[in-house]
Amino acid sequence: MALRVGVIGGGQLARMMIAPAVELGLDLRVLAEGEGMSADLAATAVGDYRDIEVVRAFVKDVDVVTFDHEHVPQAVLRALVADGVAVHPGPDALQFAQDKLVMRARLAELGVPQPDWAAVHDGTELQAFLDDHDGRGVVKTPRGGYDGKGVRVVRSADDAQDWLAALGDGEALLVEELVPFVRELAQQVARRPSGEIVAYPVVETVQRDGVCAEVIAPAPAAADRLVQVAEGIGRSIAEGLGVTGMLAVELFETDDERILVNELAMRPHNSGHWSQDGAVTGQFEQHLRAVADLPLGDTAPRSQWSVMVNILGGPREGSLGERFAGAMAEHPAAKIHTYGKDPRPGRKVGHVNVSGDDLDDAVYVARAAAAHFD
Ligand code: ADP
Repeated sequence: MALRVGVIGGGQLARMMIAPAVELGLDLRVLAEGEGMSADLAATAVGDYRDIEVVRAFVKDVDVVTFDHEHVPQAVLRALVADGVAVHPGPDALQFAQDKLVMRARLAELGVPQPDWAAVHDGTELQAFLDDHDGRGVVKTPRGGYDGKGVRVVRSADDAQDWLAALGDGEALLVEELVPFVRELAQQVARRPSGEIVAYPVVETVQRDGVCAEVIAPAPAAADRLVQVAEGIGRSIAEGLGVTGMLAVELFETDDERILVNELAMRPHNSGHWSQDGAVTGQFEQHLRAVADLPLGDTAPRSQWSVMVNILGGPREGSLGERFAGAMAEHPAAKIHTYGKDPRPGRKVGHVNVSGDDLDDAVYVARAAAAHFD
C-alpha cells in the first residue's frame, strides 16, 4: 500500500505537493479549511485544524502528517504526537517557526547571527531599545504574521502604541534593529527524520510591500564565502532545531557582508518555487521525500539561472484563465503555475518560472509572462 501523507492546510503549497506525490507513488490527503481551496483536488477532509477532534479524524487514515502552513496550535500537535502519530516537522521544531520571540531566543543560544533584538512588554522597554539603536527599530507581533503583516518600522514607542495596548498579561512584542541590508536572501535545506540533510543554493529574494515579488536562483554575484556561510546557517538551524522536511531561512545581507537571519519557515516556501522547474529536485518533491523519510534528491540547478516572478492580485478585468493562452503563446519557455484562487488585490494567485543561461533574458521573460496576468 502506498505511504499516506496527510497535509494540514489546503493552500497553494499543499496544491503543489499533489503532482510530485503522484510521481513518487505517495497517497496525498489534505485537510482543507473550506471548500474550493487551492488543494481541492487532494482534499479528503474539510474542517478546522485548531479542533483536535477534527484533526484526529483526519490523521486516522494517514501514515505521516505535514503542513501547508505553521498555524496548527501546539496543543493539537502535541496531542497527535502523544497519540503516536508521525508529525513532520514536529511540535518541538515547529514552535520556532510559530513564534518569532521563541525563535530569536533559540537562535541566540545556537550562536546563529541575527539582528539585535529584545522582547518588550511596554512603551518604556520599547523606547529604551530604540534609544540604543539610533531611535529606530522594527516591531513585530511574535505570532500569526505573514507577508509583512505584523511588521512595522517605528521611530518611537508611540508608533506601536496600538499593538502594545493589545498585549495580554505576560505577552511581549519583538523589536529588532532596523537592519541596513543591501539585499534579502533565502537558504533552503531539507532534512529527513533519519538525519540526512541537503542544501539548495542560496537565492536572492525581492520583496515589495513586505510580499515576495521575485526570486533569482542562485543569488547573483554571491561570493563563495557568502554561499558557504548561508548554507552553514541553514544546516545548523535544521540540525539545531530538529527540523524535518523543508526549511527556509530568510536572510539579510548587510553592506559590511554580514548575513543575519530574519525568519524561518518549516515547509516549502515562496523562495523555493524556482526549484520546481530549475533544480533536479523541486522543493515540493523534496519536502515529501523528507517527511516520508525517503532518500533526498539532488538539489543541483538544471540551468545557470532560474527566475521566479509571483503573479499577485490577478487581472483587473476578466479572469486569470483568459490570460493563459496569451502568456503561453508568447512565452513558451515560461512555466506558469496557478493556484486556483480567485484574484484579489495583493493576493498570490500563481507564479512564473523561467530558467536559462542568460540572467537578463530569464528575468525579462518571467516578468513579461507574469505581466499577462495584470
Ligand atoms: P513576515 O513574517 O510577515 O514575512 P518578516 O519578519 O519576514 O515578516 O518581515 C517582512 C519584511 O520586512 C522583510 O522581508 C524585510 O523586508 C522587512 N524587515 C523585517 N525585519 C527587518 C529588520 N529587522 N530590519 C529591516 N527590515 C526588516
